[in-house]
Amino acid sequence: MGVYAITGSATGIGAALRVQLEKSGHEVIGIDIKNAELSADLSTPEGRSQAVEGIKERASAGLDGFIPCAGVGPQFEPLDTTVSLNFYGSVELADGLKALLAAKRGAAVMIASNSAPLPGLNADLVESMLNHDEAKSRELIVELGEGHQAYAGSKLAIVRWMRRNAPAWAAEGIRLNAVAPGVTQTPLLQAGLDHPRWGKAIRAFPIPMGEPAQPEQIANVIGFLLSPEAAFCCGSVFFVDGGSDAVMRPDRF
Ligand code: NAD
Repeated sequence: MGVYAITGSATGIGAALRVQLEKSGHEVIGIDIKNAELSADLSTPEGRSQAVEGIKERASAGLDGFIPCAGVGPQFEPLDTTVSLNFYGSVELADGLKALLAAKRGAAVMIASNSAPLPGLNADLVESMLNHDEAKSRELIVELGEGHQAYAGSKLAIVRWMRRNAPAWAAEGIRLNAVAPGVTQTPLLQAGLDHPRWGKAIRAFPIPMGEPAQPEQIANVIGFLLSPEAAFCCGSVFFVDGGSDAVMRPDRF
């Protein structure tokens, strides 16, 4: 059976995935700011290296999969924490765990969002993340002062990072893919719904399938991407959003 590391394992999508993997007999190393095997604040460089070291100790023979689910939504403040957690907390851990994944020819599933391809995202902010210049990313998002830029910008950077790295990682036997969830019923979504400005925007979001996803529905697709059935999936972004992306950009493909 496999060994999988999941960040953001305490609630929402990460917690649902944990249950599914454990039911299938796998071992899960959860990393979260609360209620996890490894407690770490992934919005800080210290927390990230602490998490990588902790995973290395627990999975010295290698990892079958890594899934960075820890994240906060567009309503979260301060915005520089959003960028540090959502982008650097995902990508720096993936980089730090690459050798462990290669050891078992594992897979990583990055967590994007169907907001990543929305127009109007700040190119300098996205580029600063792809250049791994965290100080600049934090400075730029404070100047921009907009939760959508912090959230969707960090998700766009995750997708581009994944696609830029997928070929080289494949050469080392690791499959890199991403899931782009739409509106999903989790504490992150609830925090948005409870916010006066964001609540209105989220409720107006088109969902052809009629209602938000349950976290298990997103975890199902992540589980598929981790499985041998997905052996030829590499560098792909899987939208799991009840059709919202098809409404927002039917011909932009
Ligand atoms: P969630 O709030 O249920 O889970 C996020 C987890 O991250 C929590 O367990 C939380 O404790 C942890 N976390 C928060 N700050 C942290 C920190 N500083 N260090 C370590 N852990 C921290 O949310 P979710 O909806 O399950 O989100 C999972 C992922 O899915 C996120 O990346 C989110 O952006 C993405 N996503 C969610 C939705 C949605 O509608 N829920 C839509 C698109 C994408």
